[in-house]
Amino acid sequence: MTICRTLLERVESHANAVATNADGVRVRRLCLEIGCLANIEIGALDFCFRAIARGTCAEGAVLQIRRAPGLAWCTECATEVPVQSHLDECRHCGSGMLVPCGGDQMRLEGMEVF
Ligand SMILES: [Zn+2]
Repeated sequence: MTICRTLLERVESHANAVATNADGVRVRRLCLEIGCLANIEIGALDFCFRAIARGTCAEGAVLQIRRAPGLAWCTECATEVPVQSHLDECRHCGSGMLVPCGGDQMRLEGMEVF
């Protein structure tokens, strides 16, 4: 899963940046924000991250995940509407012509090291 590797790379480079001794740091907790529309299955992400983090500074780190609400632009009534999934319809006009415009990404918000 590419997304896990990208995440691990960012975590490792951040951990190296804050390391104050030669032994480096261990990552205890990762705070992630994952949008409702990001097409990321949290169980799979957690499982995959644990697997690839083995032997790295992030081994055993806890993923603390916050869901960000989805936002979409309705092309019918030209309004921004909150959505829960890609299957949602516009709550104003019922149109299915929605273009995601928020909550479709994963962000690394912070991490706790020791
Ligand atoms: Zn609409």
